[in-house]
Amino acid sequence: MRYTTFGETGEKVSRLSLGCMRFPDEETAIEIVEKAVELGINYYETGSRYCGGQSEVWLGKGLGTRRKDVMVSTKARVGGRGPGFPTADDARRMIGESLGRLGTDHLDFYHAWSVNYPEEYDELKKKGMWLEGVVRAKEEGLVRHVGVTSHATPALLMQMLDEGLFEPYTVQYSLLLQPHRDVIRKAREKGRGVVLMGPLAGGLLAKHTPVLAQAFAPDSQVLGAFKYVLCDPGVSTAASGMRSVEEVEANCALIDSLPEELDFGYQTAVGERLRAELGDGLEEFERYLCGDCRYCTTVCPEGIVPGSVFKPYNAVMLKVDIGNTQRLIERADAMLSRCTRCGKCQEICPQGINVPDHLERVKDTFAAMASESAQR
Ligand code: SF4
Ligand code: SF4
Repeated sequence: MRYTTFGETGEKVSRLSLGCMRFPDEETAIEIVEKAVELGINYYETGSRYCGGQSEVWLGKGLGTRRKDVMVSTKARVGGRGPGFPTADDARRMIGESLGRLGTDHLDFYHAWSVNYPEEYDELKKKGMWLEGVVRAKEEGLVRHVGVTSHATPALLMQMLDEGLFEPYTVQYSLLLQPHRDVIRKAREKGRGVVLMGPLAGGLLAKHTPVLAQAFAPDSQVLGAFKYVLCDPGVSTAASGMRSVEEVEANCALIDSLPEELDFGYQTAVGERLRAELGDGLEEFERYLCGDCRYCTTVCPEGIVPGSVFKPYNAVMLKVDIGNTQRLIERADAMLSRCTRCGKCQEICPQGINVPDHLERVKDTFAAMASESAQR
């Protein structure tokens, strides 16, 4: 395993960390964690609601007596839109509950989970609210470092960095999704560690397509995707949600195969090759790249889930063969017929996507594909 310094925390963190949100069941979860510890992963990213509320329990069981050798990070939601922001007492209680589920006496990292809107950030800082309870837990020795996970706008994350209330920042970053590239640079300047979510862009970078194979050549797509983010000097560790022991072994072997020092120039080389493959299509691809985070669904009065058609559209833009498009056309149509064009989705989308407009674009693309294949 490769390690690096985790910002000003001074901890040595493995370049690959285990995201504990995709455990399929208890037995497999325990095996995954045991294997990850054996192969040198020392940062474990869980959350109070992962795996139906069981992830913390299963992680604790998997770590067993090796708990002292690793760092555990967990988190709880700080609000969402509307009432119900946690008070200092709520936060202190939630930390106690996480400690109980994990079977540990302290948390190495405790994160404010998904601080995406200015009002969430403002609330958690207020007297008597979330941060006060977490600081109290820190003084009691229950929490060592306080961090934040976020899909917020770069401007809000920059504000957080300037105000300096959090140590590590957990943000999304991959070859395909880079809204926080400048945030990562600034975090480094300020000595903050950065944990990456989605180094494989929700699995898209692992889908075989000549476009990506060519962009990452001679590396394999998955190795290239990890290398792409880890060569950024602002990135401490890439969190990957692994579902099997085999996946842990394969990912650890990839990280082991990386050179000790990575060249940031790798990003430029891969970017240029991707541009050569996609040409003018690259701008459109980047502009409308939906990460399927589903934040729009949380605010949509109609409960529309556009990621279910935007994701296959992403694949099409990368020239992946997705087969029959008829069902996708029907799904897009059904969503459009419910959409009132209230605009709430665009307001919250980290990519700034206008969902109904993009649904139209996606539907047209699929319809053109269907008609082309009918003529063949
Ligand atoms: S514009 Fe349409 S998709 Fe977006 S939030 Fe409103 S109803 Fe939902
Ligand atoms: S449209 Fe935007 S908010 Fe909705 S799932 Fe995609 S990236 Fe997330």
